[in-house]
This record gives sequence, C-alpha cells and structure tokens, in this order.
Amino acid sequence: MRERIAVLALQGAFLEHEQALERLNIDWCEIRQAKDLEQAFDGLILPGGESTVQGKLLRELGLFHALKKRIEDGMPVMATCAGLILLAEHLVDDPTVWFGTLPVTVRRNAYGRQLGSFFTRGAFGDIADCPMTFIRAPFVESCRPGVEVLSRFDGQITAVRWQNQLAMAFHPELDQDMRIHRNFLEMVRHPASCLCCS
Ligand code: GLN
Repeated sequence: MRERIAVLALQGAFLEHEQALERLNIDWCEIRQAKDLEQAFDGLILPGGESTVQGKLLRELGLFHALKKRIEDGMPVMATCAGLILLAEHLVDDPTVWFGTLPVTVRRNAYGRQLGSFFTRGAFGDIADCPMTFIRAPFVESCRPGVEVLSRFDGQITAVRWQNQLAMAFHPELDQDMRIHRNFLEMVRHPASCLCCS
C-alpha cells in the first residue's frame, strides 16, 4: 500500500511540509476546503503558522468537525508549532481550545520576544542530534500521564506523542533532516508503534 498524507494548507508553512514529503517520495494532498476531505488519505500534517488564523479558517471553511473526528478516531497526525496549539487540550492564560485532542497544556509564544526565534539541536525520542528551528514557538507546560515526552529545550517540553498524535514546538520541515517526518510515516504505517518503547 502507498500511503497518502494530507497537509492542511490554509495558512503558514505548509509548502515546506509538502517539499519534505516530496523528498521522501511520499504521496500527499492538500486540505483547503471541505470537498478535499472526500479524497482518501492516511495521515494529516498540521503546519506551523498562526494558530488563531488557522483555527478560524478551519471553522469557517467547514473543516473543523470532520478533522477533529478523524483525529479522535485515530488518524495519525503530525503537528508543528501552531499545529501543536490547535491540538492542545488547554492553553495557558487563554480559554481558547481548538481540537483539544492532545492532553497537554501549551503556552503560546513561550520564549518571549527576545528569544522568539532560534535554532538548536537536540534529541527527539531516540533520534539524536535533530536540528530544531523555533519561530515564536510555544512549549508544553504540562502533560497528562501517558503522554510521551520526546524532546526538551532548556528544561521545557518541546515535543510529545500521545497515541496517534505527534506534536512539536519547532519546525522540522525547515531543515534538511527528514528523520522526524520518517518517524511520522512509521506511525502511519504502524499506528501502534511507540517512539520511546519500540
Ligand atoms: N506563535 C504562533 C501561534 O501562536 C505559532 C508560531 C509558529 O507556528 N511558528 O500560533
């Protein structure tokens, strides 16, 4: 079977994810409007950008409930930056909840203005020395038991996995290292696999 990954293409850094999938020779499609949900796809990428804009567009375009249901039903999803905010069950000092399917509390723009954007390298689960580009990034302030912590920067949680949801505060699609995308594809191929315990 050849997997097909849908990329939410409403706003933000979706093109870079599509280019990453091209490099990996993976079939992909874009989700821009409700009729795009009629095509078959096996996994979903929620790109970085502006979560408030993306969340509003998801609702206005009639995509929100269908995508939420598919995530709840177990469709593998990879979320970067704003995507992490869209998945979070709670936001710090903000009553907004978008999909709310990932049992974590996320702080938006968590690194403040001065350290708004930066680059570092670090571990992602058992993948060592991953490039990590942060752009006005959130971090995960707390997570419920059962959520796997995959990365930390400066003591703060920057990547997690919970069941079918893989989410990170940084942008792996902006670097040439494809190991995190490959990992997501493994989740799509083997939904029960666990990055920490496999
Ligand atoms: N600061 C953005 C937000 O709150 C996220 C930034 C990003 O996706 N690079 O939605």
